Amino acid sequence: MSSVFVITGPSGVGKGTLIRALRDLVPGLELSTSATTRRPRAGEADGVDYHFLGRDEFDRRVAEGRFLEHATYSGNSYGTLRSEVEERAARGVPVVLEIELQGARQVRAALPEAVQIFIAPPDPSDLRRRLEGRGSDDEATIEARLAVAEKELAARDEFRHTVVNDDVDRAAAELAAIVEANR
Ligand code: 5GP
Repeated sequence: MSSVFVITGPSGVGKGTLIRALRDLVPGLELSTSATTRRPRAGEADGVDYHFLGRDEFDRRVAEGRFLEHATYSGNSYGTLRSEVEERAARGVPVVLEIELQGARQVRAALPEAVQIFIAPPDPSDLRRRLEGRGSDDEATIEARLAVAEKELAARDEFRHTVVNDDVDRAAAELAAIVEANR
């Protein structure tokens, strides 16, 4: 049984909202806080939403081997620090990684026992609506994210578990069932 859950899926699919709902359903589940070189959005706090790092600091930690996985996404670096995962996993505390596809593939290679779940949109046109509705990214950023999202959608067959985010409550319940069955 594993205590590491990797949740991936295209930007705009609603991973963040689903994971919040999942954590209400499965108490004790902890979330890995990723590192990124992206600038904080309004309302995001350092150490809570992300560890916001400068480029030099991010690259230094890469060179030191401190990331379990890391990837470039839409021009910024993102990565999971080993410290976020290893000691929780050793204590048997279930930890959730919310990461993009390249990172999920790296975790699959490094930690094959991790449970990988792909979140898919009911309809790919939903992604544009959600990214635009979020109001936090400009048009060029949204177009870049949609181009990546199309490639990511093609990867869903790599995943043993796929959850379609057609309805947050229903999808969160399905995710919770997968977590409960594997922890
Ligand atoms: P955002 O900029 O919208 O917060 O995140 C952009 C993408 O990066 C999302 O698909 C998110 O899941 C992914 N992401 C967040 N943290 C990590 C991480 O630690 N590693 C990887 N590989 N992707 C991440």
